[in-house]
Amino acid sequence: MKMQITFLGTGTSQGIPVIGCTCPVCTSSDPKDKRLRCSLLLSYNEKNYVIDVGPDFRQQMLRHEVSNLESVFLSHEHNDHVIGLDDLRPFIFRQKKEMKIFGLPRVLEEIKGRFSYAFQDSPYPGIPRFELEKFTAGEKISISGLEVVGIGVDHGALPILGFRFGTFAYLTDVKSIDNKNRELLKGVELLVVSAIRQERPHHSHLLLEEAIQLIKELKVPNALIIHMSHYMGKHEDVEKLLPPNIRLAYDGLSLNLA
Ligand SMILES: [Zn+2]
Ligand SMILES: [Zn+2]
Ligand SMILES: [Zn+2]
Repeated sequence: MKMQITFLGTGTSQGIPVIGCTCPVCTSSDPKDKRLRCSLLLSYNEKNYVIDVGPDFRQQMLRHEVSNLESVFLSHEHNDHVIGLDDLRPFIFRQKKEMKIFGLPRVLEEIKGRFSYAFQDSPYPGIPRFELEKFTAGEKISISGLEVVGIGVDHGALPILGFRFGTFAYLTDVKSIDNKNRELLKGVELLVVSAIRQERPHHSHLLLEEAIQLIKELKVPNALIIHMSHYMGKHEDVEKLLPPNIRLAYDGLSLNLA
């Protein structure tokens, strides 16, 4: 199984730099301190998939010259993860078929509301066409040979979805994970997990220290952190605080997985 992953964005909902902010992170000249909104590109068997389609989606597709897209996985309905869905149109038009979108039933209902123009009986020409596919925690599906397992994650009070592909798992907007879903992560060798900042507990996101603790509890050998705010600190400084098996992801980071 040959899989390639590319981090299209690793920032929290406002991105980094934050508009108008003059903090050392937002004004850093290190390209690793520029973080678009979170999204992952996964390539397998010459087909491309994305997890989450946020406000930077168009820019992310252009930057990485992505010319075809098989389907989309949504972690949850917050704007920084879904609001770019209209920009799937170039793929939908060129590929001449509806775009499959996998997500929790609640999230798909939200999409129907947020993008109601795409679900009308007599649609305006030029609108995106989506095929909504229910996908829930614990469920296992295979798409063109790509095996995906849904992982239930608690984003504060909101149950959301993470994804496991073989020995790789991607969990964004994590606050906690129950034991049942921890079981589903057994054997994972590379875990991508979110952490928003270092200090001041957040009601729906892990702090860096809490994410490190979770990584230890799950006993995964390697982990990468995503969904960071400017309060996390500069990429270079934060990396120095981390054990060698835990790194901060950054925009453009690409890895080949066996
Ligand atoms: Zn800032
Ligand atoms: Zn969220
Ligand atoms: Zn988010």
